[in-house]
Amino acid sequence: MTRCVWCGQPIRQTVTLSGLWRFGQQRTETVCERCLTRFQRVTADHCPRCGRQQTDRRCCYDCQRWGANSLTNHAVYQYDAAFKAYMQQYKFQGDYALREVLQQELVRALHQEDYDLLVPIPIDAATWQTRGFNQVTGWLTDQPYFQALTVRASHKDQPQSAKTRAERLMTQQPFRLVENAPALLANQRVLLLDDVYTTGRTLRHAAAEIILGGAKAVTSLTLAR
Ligand SMILES: [Zn+2]
Ligand SMILES: [Zn+2]
Repeated sequence: MTRCVWCGQPIRQTVTLSGLWRFGQQRTETVCERCLTRFQRVTADHCPRCGRQQTDRRCCYDCQRWGANSLTNHAVYQYDAAFKAYMQQYKFQGDYALREVLQQELVRALHQEDYDLLVPIPIDAATWQTRGFNQVTGWLTDQPYFQALTVRASHKDQPQSAKTRAERLMTQQPFRLVENAPALLANQRVLLLDDVYTTGRTLRHAAAEIILGGAKAVTSLTLAR
């Protein structure tokens, strides 16, 4: 019997024709129905630039403040208590099995994006040491991606989550391109992938480097906003 990777409850496997059609063979579910519905999707009423859930489709105040430094971000879920609890267990407590909770959802979201090359936001060396995995690439299954960016060695102050908004906005460029990046980025439409869009600063830093590397366009996708 399979148990849900998140809540530990037994999962009843059901064979469906659509499942057989899509995957060639029936895939084994690892997350229960109840856990899959804990998150709240971003509905059609969201900011067209950052994906923030709203009651209308106008550009939000934060995006207006970014002015010309625009980046189009799509978000799958609202960053609410459930998503926060999930990230706490997956990312901060390092429960790697929880990557499976969002893998199928990410496949669906990626299918709706228009891009040539997928570039995940990297983690720094200290995080590799303590957590042992990149929470963003953990969600990818067999989708091709290119780790075009690394975190600069000098960028080792406190984590983003421990900073105030003002501190986060002042942060210097934390990323640099890997050596072979320009050869692979040239003329490509790049989709950046990150876990949560908070201020948008991290993604804009990443987008600036990607453009320097020769990409012709950059957009981003996050699991939450
Ligand atoms: Zn569950
Ligand atoms: Zn916005």
